[in-house]
Amino acid sequence: MKLNEHYFELTESYLFSDIARRVEAFAARHPEQKIIRMGIGDVTRPLPPVVTAALEEAAREMGKRESFRGYGPEQGYPFLRQAVADYYADRGTVVSPEEIFIGDGAKSDLGNILDLFSPDCTVLIPDPVYPVYVDTNIMAGRSIIYLEATGQNGFLPLPDSRVKADILYICSPNNPTGAVYDRRALQTFIDYARENGAVILYDAAYEAFIADPELPRSIYELEGARECAIEFCSFSKTAGFTGLRCGYTVLPGELIFDGHSLQKMWLRRQTTKFNGVSYPVQRAAAAALSPEGRGALEENLSYYRENARILADMLKNRGVFYTGGRHSPYLWMRCERGMGSWQYFDWLLENAGIVGTPGAGFGKNGENYFRLTAFGSREDTIEAAGRMLLL
Ligand code: PLP
Repeated sequence: MKLNEHYFELTESYLFSDIARRVEAFAARHPEQKIIRMGIGDVTRPLPPVVTAALEEAAREMGKRESFRGYGPEQGYPFLRQAVADYYADRGTVVSPEEIFIGDGAKSDLGNILDLFSPDCTVLIPDPVYPVYVDTNIMAGRSIIYLEATGQNGFLPLPDSRVKADILYICSPNNPTGAVYDRRALQTFIDYARENGAVILYDAAYEAFIADPELPRSIYELEGARECAIEFCSFSKTAGFTGLRCGYTVLPGELIFDGHSLQKMWLRRQTTKFNGVSYPVQRAAAAALSPEGRGALEENLSYYRENARILADMLKNRGVFYTGGRHSPYLWMRCERGMGSWQYFDWLLENAGIVGTPGAGFGKNGENYFRLTAFGSREDTIEAAGRMLLL
C-alpha cells in the first residue's frame, strides 16, 4: 500500500486552534473581561418557524408506514430542485431542475467536483481565499497558480491572459474579503475561460447577501457562463443551515469539454458515491425557499446586514481601509498601526477584548489584514464597534 503523499504537502492549519488557545489564555488572565467574538464564520440566528415546522412534519411522515421514505434520488427530490429553479427564475435566471444537484453543502461539492478533472490540470486560485480550494487541489497533486488579491485591486483580481490555467476559482461575495465582483469583471473571467477551454468553479455561498440588483448573484446572469461555469450554492449562510447541511450545485447542459458533458459526469459521480440528502432536510430547504420562508430568511439577512453596516461605519470613522461590509457578512480591514495580522489579533484582544480572524489564515496576501464578521448578536456588534472606536 502506498499513501497519497500529497497529504504531506498540506500546511497544517492551526488557525482556529491557535485562536482558541490565545483566547483561553486571555480569559484566564482577565476573568472579569467580557470577550466579544467577531471571528466566527457561522450563523447565530435560529431557523425560522416555517423551516422547523417542515422539518417536524417530514420527521412525522417518516414515522408512518404510508408516508415513510427510504433512499431518495441521489440528485435530490424533484420538489427541492424545482424550488431552487424557481429561486433562480425569480431573479430572471433560467436554470432547469435537471441542471440542479442537491448536496449536503458547498464544501463537499467543491471538494468532490475535482473528481471530474485530471490531476494534470493547472488551477488558478485567488489569495487570500476560503482555504478549501487550495487544500483540495494539493491533496490531488495539482499545480496551483495564485491570483494576487491586494489592497491595490480592491481584493478583486482579474485573470491575466498570459497566464494559462484550466480550472478557475471565483468566490463572490468573497470569504474572507467580502469583496463582490461586478458584471464586467465576471465577464472577463468568462471570456478568459472560453478562450482557454477552462472551467470556472463559482462559489456563490454568500449570494443572498447581495442587495444591489446591479451586482450579479449568479454567474449565469452573464453571457457565455453556461458553457464554462459550475455554480456552488448553499443554504448554510442564506438560511441558517450550517447545522442541518444542505446545498446545491448547478451544472448546465452546455458544459461540454472534449465532447463530454460535465453534467453527465457529475451525475455519474454522484450516483456512484453519494446517496442523497435526508428527506426532512430537503423538506426544510424547500420550506426556506417558500414565500413565507423567504420572508423569514430576509429578516435574518437584514439583521446581519445591519450588523455589517455598524462595523463598516466604525471602520470608516477610524479611517481604516476595508473591503466588504456591504453585500457580505464579512469585513476585511487593514491592520492598524502597521501590524501583522497575528500581532493585531493579540493587540485587539488585549485592548478591546475582541476576537477576530487573522488574515494570514487565508493566504499570504492576508498578512496585514483582519476579518470581522457580522454573524454575532446586535448587542455584541454594537458593543464591539463602541470598544474599537475608543481604541
Ligand atoms: N464556500 C465558502 C466561501 C464558505 O465560506 C463556506 C463556509 O464557510 C462554504 C463554501 C461551505 O459551506 P457549506 O456549509 O455549504 O458546506
